[in-house]
Amino acid sequence: MKILLISPAVDSETRTNKGLMIPQLGLYILKGLTPPEHEVKIIEEEINNIDLDQECNLVAISCMTANSHRAYELCQEFKKRGKTVVIGGVHPTILPDEALQHADSVVVGEAEGVWEILLNDFQNNNLKRRYCNPLPDLTKYIPKDFAKITRKRLFHVIPIITSRGCPYDCDFCCVTNLFGKQIRHVPVENVVRDIKESGAKNFIFLDDNIIGHPKYAKALFKAIKPLKIKWVGQASLSLLVSDKELLQLAAESGCKSLFIGIESVSEQQLQTMPKAINKIEQLERALKNVKKMGILVHASMIFGFDNDPKEIFNESVRFLIKNRVGTASFNVLTPYPGTKVYEDLKNENRLITTDWRYYDHNTVVFKPRNMTPYELQIGKIDARQKFYSILSVLNRALGNLYNPIIYFTLNYGHIKQVKVEAKRIAKLKSELFENIHE
Ligand code: SF4
Repeated sequence: MKILLISPAVDSETRTNKGLMIPQLGLYILKGLTPPEHEVKIIEEEINNIDLDQECNLVAISCMTANSHRAYELCQEFKKRGKTVVIGGVHPTILPDEALQHADSVVVGEAEGVWEILLNDFQNNNLKRRYCNPLPDLTKYIPKDFAKITRKRLFHVIPIITSRGCPYDCDFCCVTNLFGKQIRHVPVENVVRDIKESGAKNFIFLDDNIIGHPKYAKALFKAIKPLKIKWVGQASLSLLVSDKELLQLAAESGCKSLFIGIESVSEQQLQTMPKAINKIEQLERALKNVKKMGILVHASMIFGFDNDPKEIFNESVRFLIKNRVGTASFNVLTPYPGTKVYEDLKNENRLITTDWRYYDHNTVVFKPRNMTPYELQIGKIDARQKFYSILSVLNRALGNLYNPIIYFTLNYGHIKQVKVEAKRIAKLKSELFENIHE
């Protein structure tokens, strides 16, 4: 049978820069889990158009919150054409009843252990409405299929995941809700096998925290060191700096850049989070140590916490420039369904909209405490513009000369995105903020 695996665009009219798109790993895991007698076609809509009339027996769509609207549109189009549609991913896992209003069946949680059953049921005309295998054991073989990952992107980066689950359960994050409190790992030898089979040299580890389990991380870094790859990933700063050997091994195994969730430069805010580093001075020392190892720091910032004053935007930019941080993303607090923040803001009647298209961590969808929604929106865009000004890029370059090509290429990519974001603001003002002044 012919199966279409689709990752929808957030907005099919204005797609993300093709070259910067990371392949959607979930689709390749599904392809790997599909028995070989079936023909599978993967479509990532941010990169390729979808032919709604193409021949196929089953359509499977994987989506997050921001692209769930487009996913539901696609469900409707395919169903109109007589196709059976299955949906899964983060958003349908959190809101399966909503997803079932659009699709014939929903996969709640991870696909391992249910995908083959679902295909079998479909072939026997016995498709169930829901499939769920809570917290599958990742120590079992997890096949992936990297053969079809296109090489036409700017950076040919292969996504890899080594673990799922997080013990911290932060108020604004649904990872613990999705994957459980316990960290589950793919065996190191399977990760090594995937890297070798891909034939690639550049990788992105998609783990929420690649060093969340230091013993596993050390074994992984030692095992991949001889492969001479380059990789980027996400890591918690506190673990990295409290364990010198871990940082050393990460650098030796090819780590070129780490995405670090700094979130806030307000000590008052940091103290409300499960973070071991919650003083600015400690933060600065920790960043210095990571950079000393030749690892470029990508800082992730969040604006809109209840503790945030109006000065938070300038304070954050000053901190990032002073510490010569390589790149940074500026997000607004987004109350994703399934998080405590969502429940709190809903109960306090502070949500501006539940149109999921705006739940993209770039758009303000709630009333912040110490400023208006529009001030938060403008403050976030302004902070990004200041951080990526030519003067700031040149100033920060002085602290990132160990990786000049990566540094300038990434900063150039962000400068382009800043322009796209600035253009969006007039549209947003009329769509969301016109009648909200508090
Ligand atoms: S934000 Fe990071 S540490 Fe907190 S729950 Fe999510 S993945 Fe875990």
